[in-house]
Amino acid sequence: MLRGVRGISPHHASYLELLHGRVTGWVILVVSVIITVLAWHTSNVYQEKRAQERFDFRVEEAKWSILKRMLEYEQVLRGGVGLFNASDEVTRNAWHRYVTTLQIDTYWPGIQGIGFARLFAPEHKQALIDQIRAQGFPQFDVLPLGERDLYSSILYLEPFEGRNLRAFGYDMWSEPVRRAAMQQARDTGKAALTGKVTLVQETERDVQPGVLMYLPVYRDGMATTSVEERRRALLGFVYSPFRMRDLMEGILGLGVPDLDFELYDGMAVEPGQQLHATHPERVVKPDARYARESRLELPGGRIWLARFTSRPDFEVDLESRQPLIIALFGMLVDLLLFVNVLALSGQNERVQRKAEEIASALNQAERRYRQMVENVRDIIFQTDAEGHWTFLNAAWEEVSGFSVQESVGRPFFDNVHPDDKERSMAQFAKMMRGELNYLQDEYRGVHRNGELVWVEVYLSVLTDDRGVPIGSSGVLRDVTMRKQVEMVMMRARDAAESANRAKSEFLANMSHELRSPLNSLLILSKLLSRDANLTPEQLESVRVIHESGRDLLNMINDILDLSKIEAGRMELVADELYPDRFVRELLDPFRVFATSKGVGLTCELVGELPEVFVTDGGKLKQILSNFLSNALKFTDSGGVMLRVRRLEGSAGRRVLLFQVEDSGIGIPGDKLDMIFESFRQVDGAMSRKYGGSGLGLSIARKLADFLGARIEVRSREGQGSLFSLTLTEMERSVLAIPSDPWEVSSPAGDGAKVDGALIQEPEEASQPEPLRIRGKPVTVLVVDDDMRMAFSIASGLQKRVEHVLLAANGVRALQELESHPEVDAMVLDIRMPEMDGLETMRMLRADPQYAHLVILVLTARAAPEDEVRCLEAGADGYLIKPASMEVIWSRLEACLMMREGDKGRG
Ligand code: ADP
Repeated sequence: MLRGVRGISPHHASYLELLHGRVTGWVILVVSVIITVLAWHTSNVYQEKRAQERFDFRVEEAKWSILKRMLEYEQVLRGGVGLFNASDEVTRNAWHRYVTTLQIDTYWPGIQGIGFARLFAPEHKQALIDQIRAQGFPQFDVLPLGERDLYSSILYLEPFEGRNLRAFGYDMWSEPVRRAAMQQARDTGKAALTGKVTLVQETERDVQPGVLMYLPVYRDGMATTSVEERRRALLGFVYSPFRMRDLMEGILGLGVPDLDFELYDGMAVEPGQQLHATHPERVVKPDARYARESRLELPGGRIWLARFTSRPDFEVDLESRQPLIIALFGMLVDLLLFVNVLALSGQNERVQRKAEEIASALNQAERRYRQMVENVRDIIFQTDAEGHWTFLNAAWEEVSGFSVQESVGRPFFDNVHPDDKERSMAQFAKMMRGELNYLQDEYRGVHRNGELVWVEVYLSVLTDDRGVPIGSSGVLRDVTMRKQVEMVMMRARDAAESANRAKSEFLANMSHELRSPLNSLLILSKLLSRDANLTPEQLESVRVIHESGRDLLNMINDILDLSKIEAGRMELVADELYPDRFVRELLDPFRVFATSKGVGLTCELVGELPEVFVTDGGKLKQILSNFLSNALKFTDSGGVMLRVRRLEGSAGRRVLLFQVEDSGIGIPGDKLDMIFESFRQVDGAMSRKYGGSGLGLSIARKLADFLGARIEVRSREGQGSLFSLTLTEMERSVLAIPSDPWEVSSPAGDGAKVDGALIQEPEEASQPEPLRIRGKPVTVLVVDDDMRMAFSIASGLQKRVEHVLLAANGVRALQELESHPEVDAMVLDIRMPEMDGLETMRMLRADPQYAHLVILVLTARAAPEDEVRCLEAGADGYLIKPASMEVIWSRLEACLMMREGDKGRG
């Protein structure tokens, strides 16, 4: 009989034989009866309870497998996102390689593919299509066809074969269920699952429900802290499509043979939302003995409802045990014991099998993770609380040059650059003290070969059950390349900026220096042109000298302006401007020229203009003067008109539109942009015919930018041009910033150049009053060793002084005074050879015959104490060069009046 029972091992048999030998028959019988009755009773209760537990266990097991696997899939997608973050451009090939190394068929069964879909706006659609077509897919298109506000398109999907080819180019954004998940992923930065869809991969045969999982890819380097930033930074999605039956079979295998199982998207059993059923032919099995509904919370918060029911197999298996026990009643105890032993050994085997299964599953999971971790290009690491490496993946070897083996156990700061060591150690200590949970920073590391490596670190604290820090884990990314590029660019920018500054400064200084000699040239050529002894040819030459000088001066002024703007030395001065008066004063200087050319110059004020308007009047005048002088220059018949009109500005700000229109030669359409560039004219012959340097408009545009104004130009060749300036009123609070050392601020605030103000154009200004003392014209002696300066002052003085004498130093001055006792005043330089100004003054003041003499000191770049010394030495007034002629006159006049008053009293 014993031998008739299946599966008895010799070991069991001998065990039973041993029992037989030891216990007498009747004891066995009694015990066997008692045990059998008890066993029969408890077995029913026990079996029932065990069946419920077994069912529950199966349910939990299935549920856990699904959840675990979906989380793993999310990790796989995260690896794909990592690929995008690690390199600026992920090629089709790189994507193929990544997915191939994952071996999804082997390690991730059920996943249909891993893809990347790019998001783009309508204006980029054609370029993208062309680009993909050029990659060898002439049929590529964004599908479905048609116009939409925003597109996505599946660009990569690996394995790129079979069903997956059908998805190439598909715009998932166009479909609401997919779009909802994509939007969720985009806004949260996390994985999101769609509801139930039919994948585009489906053919007519074996159609299964599907779902998709998305992870967002943001553009490298863009901020993603807020939802708005994430939307802006979105590049596309890494995603996976799943066919539900394939997926469930991939996850569970044939894992729950005795249970039925249905899966629904959402929280309720709704036939339309069914994702999967192990028994598609019937939705519910009402007579199942065991049934349970359970919710699964998936990545992105999506809920699936799983409904498990026991299957007849499960119940048969259960019931089959009862007849077995009943049959045992009356049997011998050895048989009962044997059965118990058998059950025990069977259970053991099952436990063993289960353990092996779990171990193998663990092994697989471990292999999967390892594969993933090792494939990532970033360094994944862990440290203990002292900062020793406890884990490093393979990427470590490439980035640091050290092997994982030799590094594990060593402190992380051994690999940090000395300059960053202290900071990194302090931050780490802070984390281990529990003061910081998460860290993102950039450090310099040192490669084994001594080279510098820049890494970006993302670090978080590892804690034990009680929350005490026990180490850290994180990711290191090699950003050396990016840093190097940044550094090269920064250096190049610094170099360019400082070169530009140096250039501008040089220009500014140079033009400044050029003006002094030009000054003399202009004045002397003017004086020469009045010489009655010159022949007409000589006069013409003098005129040419004078005009060339003036052109040169204008050009230098322009260059000075330009370099000031470029060196950032231009300042805004908010003035109150009265449009009526401003326009009149603006046009006045042009009237003579217009009349001499026979060209009309008119002005039109349209509508009601504001009474006052706040802006930098000097710069506005400079811009409009340029328009007007160009208009007059390039117009030979007809007229030039200045129009001013008020426009409505936003937010209550006032806006004026200034237009200068002419009927001149016009500008060809293709040259309209070019004329705003420095030194550019419509054609090369221009400057010969019309003069000019090609700088005016480029300065005008820069000044306009500076004022926040806009210049526009319209023109028709041969018919005329229209230059417009749209200017918004400035806020009154915009006031001048202190000026630069070489910039002499203009007291008039109209931008007139006081610097080099000794330049005078004798005939242009109106004739001022001559200076007098005691009713007769004055005689002035100018003493300066720089003859150009002396001439300039002299000719400036000549407008109001009848007799001007010159002397080159103190000794000569004394000689002049001796031979010209009529001298009333002298303008005296201080630094001179032979006898300087101070000494000259002391000598003069020591001599009573010069007591009446007015002495005005005019000195260059003096120290502050110089003024006191000069006044002590006997000066009546003290001025610093450069000073405008008006200032010199008025100071001289004041000194003369004081002397006169003194004399009167005395
Ligand atoms: P410039 O007049 O000193 O040469 P601009 O920068 O002021 O320099 O002007 C550049 C060029 O633009 C001029 O040389 C001329 O060719 C063209 N231009 C400017 N204004 C007019 C205009 N009103 N009519 C025709 N051409 C013009």
